[in-house]
Amino acid sequence: MIKKYILPLFMLAIFETIAITLYLTKDNLFYLLNFSYIGFSIALGLFLFIKKYRHARCVTQLLVGLYMLLYLGLACNENMQIEGFWYYLFTGVFEAATIHYAVAKIFGPLVFGRGWCGYACWTAMILDFLPYKVPMQPRKKIGWIRYVVFAASLIFVASLFLTHVGNIERIMFWAFIIGNLLYYVIGISFAFLFKDNRAFCKYICPITVFLKPMSYFALLRIKCDTSKCISCGKCKRVCPMDVDVTDNSRKRKNGTECILCFECVNNCPKNAL
Ligand code: SF4
Ligand code: SF4
Ligand code: SF4
Repeated sequence: MIKKYILPLFMLAIFETIAITLYLTKDNLFYLLNFSYIGFSIALGLFLFIKKYRHARCVTQLLVGLYMLLYLGLACNENMQIEGFWYYLFTGVFEAATIHYAVAKIFGPLVFGRGWCGYACWTAMILDFLPYKVPMQPRKKIGWIRYVVFAASLIFVASLFLTHVGNIERIMFWAFIIGNLLYYVIGISFAFLFKDNRAFCKYICPITVFLKPMSYFALLRIKCDTSKCISCGKCKRVCPMDVDVTDNSRKRKNGTECILCFECVNNCPKNAL
């Protein structure tokens, strides 16, 4: 019985460990509440998935995504976008966005891969409601755009420090609002242009510059039982990220793109995944 729920319990344990460690080291109750809430939301989504609730992932996405966007971003003025990460890095403060990036996007992916992209990102939370859950066009070779956006975000924040502009905190707040609006407009436009909800994730999102190399080593991965697989190709057809999940090697095609959405698992007729 307990074995069935090992994954949600494991994720809850990881986040509780982070919550308690940060609470004790930083002496700040916020970290205890914040990471406990995120851990609970992820565990709840996984629990609902095991119970075969169709919208399980969506529940976690909304619980975490809305919390981070509306509460942390708008109410608490914490810029959790990549510019916020650079900002805190330049100020030398290990707080807010730096901790968020360390946990969700830099070291966390060594354990849970791109779980952030499947269960927590507030940009994808909206994109996943669009009509092209399964990509209708082959992948394009324009992934280089993410490096341009990555460099632009770094140059933008560095120039604020180099030119000594006043009230950088206020600028970062507005950068969060404008940046998010831009992400939504570009993300939705690209989804319709390429008939692919996740086109923004595949070609533009600068955070993937961190996420992709780290998730290469992810502990949690979807694996294929090749003795059961009949090579029907259904898993590849339903995958929003074009992953060749039948190949168990770490070098599998688009392997660092897997967002652990479990669509392939749900659709495999032979329970091979
Ligand atoms: S790739 Fe970027 S936009 Fe897409 S889900 Fe991940 S963090 Fe969000
Ligand atoms: S859906 Fe299942 S049986 Fe079909 S190719 Fe994928 S893993 Fe194999
Ligand atoms: S369908 Fe499977 S391989 Fe594709 S992103 Fe989702 S979990 Fe990963």
